[in-house]
Amino acid sequence: MSRVYNFSAGPAVLPEEVLKEAAEEMLDYRGTGMSVMEMSHRSKAFEEIITTAEQDLRDLMGIPDNYKVLFLQGGASQQFAMIPMNLMKNRVADYIITGQWAKKAAKEAEKYGKVNRIASSEDKTFSYIPDCSDLPVSEDADYVYICENNTIYGTKFKELPNTKGKTLVADVSSCFLSEPVDVTKYGVIYGGVQKNIGPAGVVIVIIREDLITEDVLPGTPTMLTYKTHADARSLYNTPPAYGIYICGKVFKWIKAQGGLAAMKERNEKKAKVLYDFLDQSKLFKGTVVPKDRSLMNVPFVTGNADLDAKFVKEAKEAGLENLKGHRTVGGMRASIYNAMPYEGVVALVDFMKKFEEENL
Ligand SMILES: *Cc1c(COP(=O)(O)O)cnc(C)c1O
Repeated sequence: MSRVYNFSAGPAVLPEEVLKEAAEEMLDYRGTGMSVMEMSHRSKAFEEIITTAEQDLRDLMGIPDNYKVLFLQGGASQQFAMIPMNLMKNRVADYIITGQWAKKAAKEAEKYGKVNRIASSEDKTFSYIPDCSDLPVSEDADYVYICENNTIYGTKFKELPNTKGKTLVADVSSCFLSEPVDVTKYGVIYGGVQKNIGPAGVVIVIIREDLITEDVLPGTPTMLTYKTHADARSLYNTPPAYGIYICGKVFKWIKAQGGLAAMKERNEKKAKVLYDFLDQSKLFKGTVVPKDRSLMNVPFVTGNADLDAKFVKEAKEAGLENLKGHRTVGGMRASIYNAMPYEGVVALVDFMKKFEEENL
């Protein structure tokens, strides 16, 4: 068996320890005589899995008691609709446009009400985060929406926007659990887990209780109403059980690493190796304004599409996989999520040095 360094933006690398544990429990989960994939979501064993997962996530993020944690399906993309359906009481919301995912979310919300795009960085191909300290937040906005870490462009909000008292909703798909977070600053934090937590198929929504109401937009399906899932503790219908089980293992893994403060330290150390190299390279160039750089997704280019393609191909041959940039931007992108070891980033930088010498 040989594993590669997988720089995929998602689905992405998972901690090897977690995969090994899951493999050991595959045929017989702790004496139940069956796999977690085969057991009832109403069983005692699964009840313990989901309860423990929620508690560990609460511990890691310091989630206050007045927030619910929901394990849902439909990916982050389904939240683009679920958020307005549940939160747009006045049918008005403000969106900050920092990339494709925020753009898609805004477009979907437009089906349900008035969307004000109160800031955007599209003028410079989303290579920076706009100043959000004094935006024209709408008087009657039900919420202000951000995509906190822009997976495709490699930018991250280092400071949350000043929402002038309005509820903040954040898509954290690609920075979930990458650093400590003050949950109280948000009304809703959500993300698909396939970037920085677990396998595809689970989306985690952390939502303040007062935002969970029966008063949703007319026609909202039962399954797309937060209250349905909050009341049933994510067990209204069959949840993505195996995915939740793996997420639970990842939470335990992060706890064992020292929690979110330790994750942040690790992530900063990893990102620094790559950014420091990019900043002095004569061949490769980072594409993001330094102050807004993501710790998780690092896009870079040579400025020559043929050379970019050659790099991606040769990197793959060297065991460094999925370095091709998003199809909408080209170039390269290294996603260096929590589970990417430091050694993986060093191997990438060593390879980049060698490639630079050979191709400059
Ligand atoms: C990947 C991604 C999405 C889309 O996630 P799906 O689970 O595929 O719907 C949304 N937002 C961000 C920030 C992402 O990185």
